[in-house]
Amino acid sequence: LLNARPIDGRFRRMRHAANAALIAILFGIPWIRIQGEPLVWLDIPGRKFHVFGLVIFPQELYFLWLILAALALSLFFFTALGGRLWCGWACPQTVFTDVFAQLARRIEGWRGTKRPAHVALWRRAVLHAAWLAGSFAIGFHVVAYFLPPDELIARLSAGRLGGAGLAFLLATSALAYADFVFVRQTFCKFLCPYARFQGVLFDRDTLVIGYDAKRGEPRGKRGAAAGDCVDCKLCVQVCPSGIDIRKGLQLECIACTQCIDACDAVMDRLDRPRGLIAYRALASLEGLRPRIVRPRVVVYAVLLAVTAVTFGVTLARRVPMDLVVEHNRDALYTRAADGRVGNAFTLHIENRARVAERFTLRLESQPPGFELIAGMNPIRVDATSIASARVFVMAPHGAGEAELRFVLESALRPGDAVKRETRFIAPAGPDGGAVSGR
Ligand code: SF4
Ligand code: SF4
Repeated sequence: LLNARPIDGRFRRMRHAANAALIAILFGIPWIRIQGEPLVWLDIPGRKFHVFGLVIFPQELYFLWLILAALALSLFFFTALGGRLWCGWACPQTVFTDVFAQLARRIEGWRGTKRPAHVALWRRAVLHAAWLAGSFAIGFHVVAYFLPPDELIARLSAGRLGGAGLAFLLATSALAYADFVFVRQTFCKFLCPYARFQGVLFDRDTLVIGYDAKRGEPRGKRGAAAGDCVDCKLCVQVCPSGIDIRKGLQLECIACTQCIDACDAVMDRLDRPRGLIAYRALASLEGLRPRIVRPRVVVYAVLLAVTAVTFGVTLARRVPMDLVVEHNRDALYTRAADGRVGNAFTLHIENRARVAERFTLRLESQPPGFELIAGMNPIRVDATSIASARVFVMAPHGAGEAELRFVLESALRPGDAVKRETRFIAPAGPDGGAVSGR
């Protein structure tokens, strides 16, 4: 709710800091470069992903899957332990919705906790202009994960972004505006898949934001009821999801902590202990001692550790080069003037390292005696790039079909090599067949 009553308190101040840190991280990442390359850059046209210094090529998408698996398992692990910590503190949906609501309060000119009865037209215009600017900043930084921001600015100012790029930028900005201005917490209630399945990740030992009904009930005016809850409804008024936490754990609760600050302020005024609403495990509300170590937490931790170790081992054993061999499909073989049969190949050489590299190409054949003819050998390939080279393999006089093995060796890192097998194709008889086989 845009009109949720603002509240100050220790969690509110911590959430301001968390919001600022998260926005700085999300907006800062595309601008940070390591050895000239962006920290994160999903380079779709170049078919490579730059992720924290690692350049992932299409054949190595298992790295991306491992990263995604680790992120998902971390979410499961922390949800089992801390409930909706992600929703309340780190989800961009919550963070930007909160920031947009703060903007509204400042620009509309709220007095303390009260929205003005009439908001002047100019204030509304300024507010929507500020929301649009914020939405564009979000859209810009989403696109900047796919096209480095300096390049994006250069193309925008020169009018060279292209139809698809411009459509992507406008669509993400428009989506951000619609989401953070109109949809807001409704997204969490009805659209967020994480909100749907987190129920199965919870148990009675999971940390949630809970109301201590044993202490609070029966609720009523001070002195008129025995419970500590004076039924002031401040916790309901500050809730951006518009729910009453005193009714128990609800799907709509995004764990934003505002009701904790609200109720703590009331308890302070009444000179009663804080914590009527607090972070607590459901078990503690039933008088049980919550457990931290339990089967589901251990399972998630073990799976997370296995994923991390698999990632580390795969990375350590990674050879930062690759070779793809393509047999010429137009003419399977040709016959040279001296009568020898030749096969043409296109080699795609991938340099996954962050420095330019020279690769030496060698041929092994079975039977031996086949000759490799390459226009350039060693072959230079720029950092994190793919180069293509056309080569010929000539058979010795009278040779037929054969097994070939291309060996690509790194000049910078002796010992790093990749081998690719293929087949030499020749006409049926040593001297028979056509001039070229199509
Ligand atoms: S803020 Fe605290 S005292 Fe007031 S209604 Fe909510 S739980 Fe009761
Ligand atoms: S119930 Fe409390 S923690 Fe949950 S969304 Fe409302 S104010 Fe935030």
